Amino acid sequence: MPRRCIVPTCLNVECRPRGMMVNFHHFPARNPQRLRNWMTALHLDPNTLYHVIESLLICSDHFVKEDCIAKTEHRTGSKRHFLKDTAVPSVGLPQPQTENPEALVSKIRYSYYAMLLSLLKWIVNESCLLQLFQRCRMCGGIGSVEKVTRIGSKIKVTWSCLNNHTGDWVSNPNIRGTAQSNLVAAAAILFTGATNIQLLY
Ligand SMILES: [Zn+2]
Ligand SMILES: [Zn+2]
Repeated sequence: MPRRCIVPTCLNVECRPRGMMVNFHHFPARNPQRLRNWMTALHLDPNTLYHVIESLLICSDHFVKEDCIAKTEHRTGSKRHFLKDTAVPSVGLPQPQTENPEALVSKIRYSYYAMLLSLLKWIVNESCLLQLFQRCRMCGGIGSVEKVTRIGSKIKVTWSCLNNHTGDWVSNPNIRGTAQSNLVAAAAILFTGATNIQLLY
């Protein structure tokens, strides 16, 4: 049974005598660096077993003209095509099975948000929280609170110390521009069945 080209979208099969138009090439199984380049270009598993690699063929349609050298066989006078040592498949190759970038980004975002929401949350008195800023977190020196900003259930503390260290601390990050704690609080009210009317009372 004639073997076929490894490229899934390619219909070329190996046939003897060799067709004039298409040549078939073995993978460079004995040259690890070059083999890696081929596997990468073809999106194949780099850990594929040696005996499998040896059985793979790729046709000349996936190389540019500059990748090949034609040699004439003295005995028969027929031309045979060989690949240069630098040749890597580059023509008509399958694209990797990636999702469209937007779907991928929203997937990453979703898992990031899910991670944030899965972290434990605490209800803390502001006076207790501000005790943490009595010591500088960088030098351990005496610290003080410069400013407190409250955004719903989110709190931002601007702090400084006697050694001129300063910084902002926030109780939780934003999700699409809204404080995570505000989202969680709203969701908690909603999912426990409360209505805005009940809340106002
Ligand atoms: Zn092919
Ligand atoms: Zn300090």
